[in-house]
Amino acid sequence: MTGRLLRSTVVEPAKERPVLFDADVVVAGCGLCGTFAAIASGRCGARTLVIDRFGTLGGNMGPAMVVNGSLFGEADATLPGGLAGIPAEFKARYEALGGSAARDPARSIYPEDAAIASHLAYVMMNEAGVEILLSAYAADPIMDGNTVCGLFAECASGRVAARAKVTVDGTGDAGIAARAGAPIVPYMAQDDTYAVMMPRASMKRGYPTYYNDTQLLFLIANVAEDGMQAFWREDVDLSAEDEEWAATSLKAYPKALVPILRQAWSTGEYRRRIDDVADVKISASCPGKLQEFGPGIVGFRVSAVGAIDAADPLQMSRLEAAMREQGFRTVAFFRKHAPGFENAYLIASSSFLGMRGGPHIEGDHTLSMEDRFAGRKCDDVLFRNTHLGSPGHGGDPSGFDVPYAVCLPRGVEGLLVCGRGAAYRRRGHDPCAMRARPAMMVFGQAVGTAAAIAALDGVAPREVDIRKVQQRLVADGICLGERSRLAELGLGR
Ligand SMILES: Cc1cc2nc3c(=O)[nH]c(=O)nc-3n(C[C@H](O)[C@H](O)[C@H](O)COP(=O)(O)OP(=O)(O)OC[C@H]3O[C@@H](n4cnc5c(N)ncnc54)[C@H](O)[C@@H]3O)c2cc1C
Repeated sequence: MTGRLLRSTVVEPAKERPVLFDADVVVAGCGLCGTFAAIASGRCGARTLVIDRFGTLGGNMGPAMVVNGSLFGEADATLPGGLAGIPAEFKARYEALGGSAARDPARSIYPEDAAIASHLAYVMMNEAGVEILLSAYAADPIMDGNTVCGLFAECASGRVAARAKVTVDGTGDAGIAARAGAPIVPYMAQDDTYAVMMPRASMKRGYPTYYNDTQLLFLIANVAEDGMQAFWREDVDLSAEDEEWAATSLKAYPKALVPILRQAWSTGEYRRRIDDVADVKISASCPGKLQEFGPGIVGFRVSAVGAIDAADPLQMSRLEAAMREQGFRTVAFFRKHAPGFENAYLIASSSFLGMRGGPHIEGDHTLSMEDRFAGRKCDDVLFRNTHLGSPGHGGDPSGFDVPYAVCLPRGVEGLLVCGRGAAYRRRGHDPCAMRARPAMMVFGQAVGTAAAIAALDGVAPREVDIRKVQQRLVADGICLGERSRLAELGLGR
């Protein structure tokens, strides 16, 4: 927790807690990365427990509904050779169940896709023999000196212990690592190092001194699409004042809505952009701009950008409340003023606030932007990743190695961090992608494999036989490099 929150403290009395589970591997957080970590660990034969705070699996591809037609769409752009391993199997089974095909917006109905992803995560974990603990909050790690030996989970019935040989932090916010005392970077401070990853347009505008970004998705049903489309296309003559106002206050809104929105903005009835939380800009996208949510269903996003500190529970809570309020007000505004929305109603919204930027650990190695653009190679490579098209910035088109060292929190033993919490520099929407979902899935498989091998061999994650991990990953279809590179690493088959 950040220093400014520590106004005073109370002492929590020591308590004996029941041991619910003795695991080889416990995975905290079952989102995009944790799901694949748990499945991989189970498939390697490790007794695996996965814990999630929600009753639904999948994190951003599950209850947060950040799924859409591109759940796998960035696979070719981010993974040399495309999707492989358990994620490729997941994709095939997801599509067989009716999950939207990559880049087929017409077939993408977010809540349905999210439900399919959650269902499949459940099925594949069951097949892998993974024990699932739902609606349980992974709280403090069980510490022996600086070694994590499992964790406590808060359940409705009280706090329970889950002991483990290796613990994987898949919370996305490095929450377990932070509680274990690992050094955490809360958000990106201004640093010229990151300039290389900003799109050229942003660079011209200058980039902010801090950066976290987050979004909630809202879905509205019963929209009369013909009415909406006609209104969207209406070519109205705007006054000079309206034109000027739209240029500074609006982006991608239908012309016909400008005078109405300007009026609502001036009276305080509705604003598309609000500053209800200090140092954070909150804004709503235009409902219906993206036609990808199913018949009569349109979506919009409420985004927040700025100095968002995931370690500050009050700020996070105020932010989420303000964003949900903004979503609610947006629906009310459209229902009142926009043709096609007269009988529309809100049907769903993301169940939690996830960040693209967000906090991360300092690892044994923290992957920098230079590493990525230079195509750095590492002996402990887990998989190969590439940048999401950023021609202006050049870089090695064959990509870069993601090393095992990014999962190892400095100064802490017994713990691996996967997903967004791992040690790589980011600015949210960075072109030098680590955040891309297919990469996160493969990352999960790699970390789950390493965790299981360390646990089954009875060694600390830092001491794991990395060649054995790599051999298993190659056998399971993951790309660690070209054939010649594999030979260099002694991984020839
Ligand atoms: C708004 C947004 C839009 C995005 N859009 C795209 C996109 O278009 N394309 C793309 O490729 N990528 C996109 N991403 C990136 C991608 O979704 C993330 O990189 C990915 O979700 C990271 O996976 P994760 O497992 O680390 O985190 P998550 O998927 O967030 O999973 C974290 C999991 O941990 C659980 N958890 C957290 N804390 C605890 C706790 N203490 N106890 C128990 N459970 C806990 C959560 O419930 C959740 O299930 C987007 C991300 C965001 C936030």
